[in-house]
Amino acid sequence: MVESKNRIIIVFVLFILVVFLVQIKMYIGETHATLYKRLEESAVKNMHEVALNIDQNLKNQIENNLFDSFKDNRDMRREFEKDLSLFVTSKVQYIYLIYKDEKNRFRFLADGSTQDKARFNQKLDVNEAYLNIYKTKHELSLTQNSLEKLAITYIHPVLRNDTVEALLVFDFSSTLTSDLKMILEPIEALFRVIYILIGLFIFIAAVQAFYYYQIRKKSFIDILTQTYNRQYLRYLWNKIDMNQYHILMVDFDHFKKINDNYGHSVGDNVLYEGAQIMQSKLRKDDKIFRYGGEEFLILIKKESVSVTEHIANRIRLSIENYIFLKDDIKINLTISIGLNIKPNESKNINEAIKIADMMLYRAKANGRNCIISNYNNTQVSIEDKHTMGETIDNVKAAIEEDRIRCYFHSIVDFNNTIYKYEALVRYVKEDGTLVYPNHFLADIMYTSVYTDLCKRIIDICIDTVQKRKIVISINFSINDLLDENLMNYFISQLEDLGDDSSLISIEILEDQELLNINMLKNVIDRFKTYGVKFAIDDFGSGYANFNYLAELNIDYIKIDGSLIQNVLESQNTKHIIMSIIKLAQKMNMKTIAEFVSSEEIYEEISALGVDYMQGYYISKPKLFGEA
Ligand code: GH3
Ligand code: MG
Ligand code: MG
Repeated sequence: MVESKNRIIIVFVLFILVVFLVQIKMYIGETHATLYKRLEESAVKNMHEVALNIDQNLKNQIENNLFDSFKDNRDMRREFEKDLSLFVTSKVQYIYLIYKDEKNRFRFLADGSTQDKARFNQKLDVNEAYLNIYKTKHELSLTQNSLEKLAITYIHPVLRNDTVEALLVFDFSSTLTSDLKMILEPIEALFRVIYILIGLFIFIAAVQAFYYYQIRKKSFIDILTQTYNRQYLRYLWNKIDMNQYHILMVDFDHFKKINDNYGHSVGDNVLYEGAQIMQSKLRKDDKIFRYGGEEFLILIKKESVSVTEHIANRIRLSIENYIFLKDDIKINLTISIGLNIKPNESKNINEAIKIADMMLYRAKANGRNCIISNYNNTQVSIEDKHTMGETIDNVKAAIEEDRIRCYFHSIVDFNNTIYKYEALVRYVKEDGTLVYPNHFLADIMYTSVYTDLCKRIIDICIDTVQKRKIVISINFSINDLLDENLMNYFISQLEDLGDDSSLISIEILEDQELLNINMLKNVIDRFKTYGVKFAIDDFGSGYANFNYLAELNIDYIKIDGSLIQNVLESQNTKHIIMSIIKLAQKMNMKTIAEFVSSEEIYEEISALGVDYMQGYYISKPKLFGEA
């Protein structure tokens, strides 16, 4: 800001200076012209007075025709020439009297010059203007105006009987203008120097500005990928109008493998080529930044959501279809893209980027090589960043300080014997109070703290299974199950359990739409090899449940709590529950009723033939190790 203010001031001062100099230059020019004019006027006026005088004298002295008088009377002519010579000065060098002969040639009658005096009747070559005076009968001055000299020829007609008999001619010249010029010359030279200096100054400033922008441009470019760097993004931070852009967060999938398999320098090449390809798919007004390692942030100039989605997909496909070559080896690569199409709803660009980042996380969890946007998603907008940040910090601290707890909620069979336990997470605040997941899970979702928490829960459950040899079910969202890193960790822990791994079961939370059922199927099948069982949680409330049942290898259906709680009031609800049980039996699955909160519900649900039940009527979640 300060920079541009200074620039404006400098330009303004230069502008004023140039205007000022142009004014002075014009003023000097005008002064010149005025001086000439004044000089000319005063010279003409003087000569006019003298001419009148001489004319009068002539008429007083000579009554007859001038030619005849001067021809016949040489003395008279000499006398007259003497009179004329009295008026010859340094400025008026020549005064003479001429006439026009029959052939319209001009000839001398008398010459007042002291040197090179013309003879009587000597011819004189003159211009047309002289002839004109015979018609106009008016005096005339002819001016020759050069810088060095002002030369005026003043011609006065000598009239007799209203016809022009002769012309009295004065040749005036003055070197005053050259004197003037001598005075003005240094001033003008000074101005010329100033002009040159200003020109030079402007030139140097322009060159400097050019280099300055060149250098700055360079410092805003990432050396490896030749895209903009984060520094430039920071520079633009407050200048970006969030209404104008959609934000894309792009991350290469499994990039570590490229480095591991082919070496870091191949990784660098791939990164450079990848960045170039992405850049080539952008329009003029879009901007790509290297945000971190192999993560890029792209600002897409807003036109419409579909245009942005189209561009995002174009970028994704361009990488997917590109073959990176290393010697003879062909390397295929994909990217995941998080798309924030509502950055204007964020308080600042930081938050808008964070949401794009969350979407990227989801895209990764969704199996990679895909685009996830917040188009239909309102819950990810950050309502209160402050409390959210606080929650993240609290949970993080709880993990580090071993204050994460799993409460176990029993699930019983129709004999009321405990069949298994569902692990429910809480954390203990520093003051000892318990915090329930509905108060922190949403805030930490899509952050690394969430993954850490999941790992901690896995640890606790595995440990509990090991010690107590009981069946424990753990809740995972679809995103969790598609998070390869997290699941790899889970599997490694399961392997430690040995045969006891079959004591673990997983409840799939249908909190989001499943976009890639095959991937989930693969994950489930992978766990099945360890004897892990799967339940669909909250069945009857979530997304495309029946589709899951058909495609996935599920063992239990957990009927949604809201249906169970309603069973006494609504006949329809009862019918729904009955049909779910029937369906489960047909598909060889067991049913679990949750939220069994009273004896009446317990009786009713038991009568419907549900396999297992869970709820406060039966037991409350408890910590193992407690009395
Ligand atoms: P995914 O994003 O799909 O979860 O897996 P990933 O393997 O790409 O994991 P992540 O994004 O977390 O890791 C990025 C890796 O990219 C880490 C690092 O080895 C590599 N990387 C980051 N910057 C560079 C770089 O400038 N050059 C090279 N060669 N590798 C880089
Ligand atoms: Mg990556
Ligand atoms: Mg990365």
